[in-house]
Amino acid sequence: KEKRARLVVLGGGESGIGAAILGRKEGFEVFVSDKGRIKEKYKNVLEQYEIIWEEGQHSAEKIYSADLVMKSPGIPDRVPLVTELVKRGIPVISEIEFAAQYTDAQLIGITGSNGKTTTTMLTYHLLKNGGLDAGMAGNIGDSFAQMVAEDDKKYFVLEISSFQLDGIVSFRPGIAVITNITPDHLDRYDYKFENYIASKFRIAMNQTAEDYLIYDADDEVITDWLAKHPVPSRLLPFSLEKKIENGAYLKGDKIILTIDNDQITMSTDTLTLEGKHNVKNTMAASLVAQLVKVRKKTIRESLENFQGVEHRLEKVLKIQNVQYINDSKATNVNAVLYALDSMTAPTVWIVGGEDKGNDYTALMPLVREKVKAIICLGLDNSKIIEAFGKVADLMVETQSMEEAVKIAYKIAEKGDNVLLSPACASFDLFESYEDRGDQFKAAVKRL
Ligand code: ADP
Repeated sequence: KEKRARLVVLGGGESGIGAAILGRKEGFEVFVSDKGRIKEKYKNVLEQYEIIWEEGQHSAEKIYSADLVMKSPGIPDRVPLVTELVKRGIPVISEIEFAAQYTDAQLIGITGSNGKTTTTMLTYHLLKNGGLDAGMAGNIGDSFAQMVAEDDKKYFVLEISSFQLDGIVSFRPGIAVITNITPDHLDRYDYKFENYIASKFRIAMNQTAEDYLIYDADDEVITDWLAKHPVPSRLLPFSLEKKIENGAYLKGDKIILTIDNDQITMSTDTLTLEGKHNVKNTMAASLVAQLVKVRKKTIRESLENFQGVEHRLEKVLKIQNVQYINDSKATNVNAVLYALDSMTAPTVWIVGGEDKGNDYTALMPLVREKVKAIICLGLDNSKIIEAFGKVADLMVETQSMEEAVKIAYKIAEKGDNVLLSPACASFDLFESYEDRGDQFKAAVKRL
């Protein structure tokens, strides 16, 4: 009997467990190794599939006996375990790469620094409403590999991070989207922005002249890179600023989508998602839907009934005519830029958390124009105070969500907005950005 190939899965989180299940189904001998703790619910799944695992350590000899290694996105390439695997010539791939090898589905890959989740959910919503057999996976929700193993589809809409792209070899989405590229996660890219840009563009590295690349033509980082590193893909740019012959652009308050001889026109007034950035996300998602032949009427109607995404400019409640908005997912400066830009009323802004080397300069004009008070919410607020101390009319420091919301309530007057849009990671005071957003919503509801 032929010896079964050994798949070692590094990291027992959502993507690791998914890869283990798929590996098992495809006949691999699977071993899952996690240096930290594996969640109880995942252990149960592993037991159920009779997959061998360890936690609290990486047993080197078991790992080095692998034929193939699936590495979770949280593990950096530079850790000794991984560099040793590479040295030994053992392939180390990401879950996206692994799963894609076992499905015949049409793959739609969505990456970018901001807007991935929104664009992914919107695209999925359009495809589902169009009656297509579509699944949504990747960086969002369920593991792609697990869906391939248990619930394969004809289309997959995949949210893909740069870490997942770093581990691809042959992954080739028929439709790729790059929403935008701004500096993020530079600690994983030797603090070189170009390495991070190159990582994002890996989404198109296996594309051919049959495939499509949809991207923001107003983003000079993207257009400069494309000018220097041409791709064979068919390009579908979108823009808010200039006319686009093949792709999407804005004409007054109309979005015009053109793919070859097929044109769709729709009004921005009827979109449920607010803000310029969401016009861009809408353009990207609609181009995908148009490519896979969702009917025009369905696209228009679906955009009008999309419920939005939790923690992204999510309207929570109106209390005494003050609108409370949860944008907890805004963990970098660029996301806040769009959030403030979309505010149509004087805004009490709750900001702060774990600083990721932020440069706040770009926010100054918007803060002057729209922000009436700043509430700092972080363990260390010194950078925010330093940046905005002179610009803000009113600035208050707090270290709890409850207090921040109460102070916002006192300051805000009829017609104002209260916006949680932190520009920072959440880990100083909260478990995650979801936890931060949930606490905000709970505090608002108690008012
Ligand atoms: P990601 O999954 O890439 O983190 P999200 O859709 O979760 O993106 O949005 C993250 C944050 O960025 C939110 O605060 C959101 O309002 C903002 N945002 C969404 N789309 C864009 C965009 N196209 N450009 C800039 N910021 C955006």
